[in-house]
Formats: sequence, structure tokens, C-alpha cells
Amino acid sequence: MLISDLKKTCLKCAGSGFQAGYDEWGSIKSNLRKACPACSGKGYNLTDLGENLWKLYRPMLQELIREELQNKSTLQK
Ligand SMILES: [Zn+2]
Repeated sequence: MLISDLKKTCLKCAGSGFQAGYDEWGSIKSNLRKACPACSGKGYNLTDLGENLWKLYRPMLQELIREELQNKSTLQK
């Protein structure tokens, strides 16, 4: 499995994370670039497979974090 199976570069902004077209406007306006609405500024989107994998792993990660926090609070006692 490749990472490209899980996420794909956003086509709207070509992976920049910003709204396309602003570069052509020069330095002043490029500072005002807005986050790309298609990928929320991440520059990529999850594929269906990536989405499913994230849903699978998410509860496990949450459990791991919960355990970690519990261990910490036990050590402090
Ligand atoms: Zn984008």
C-alpha cells in the first residue's frame, strides 16, 4: 500500500493548500491567499481508502491516548 492510495494531492490548488490563481497577482495579494476550500488548506484530500483507514485507527488512537494519560496520572500519585 502506498501513501498515494490513502491521500491524493488536491487538484484545485495542486497541493499548495491555497486557493488557485492568487499567485499571478503579485506579492501583495499573495499574502492574502485564502486556504483552498476543497482541501481546507491541507493540500490533499483523503481517498475513500484513507477515509476508511482513519475511521479504523481513530478509536485505537483515542484508546492509546486515554491509557497514556491514565498512566501519567497514576505515576503522579
Ligand atoms: Zn486544495
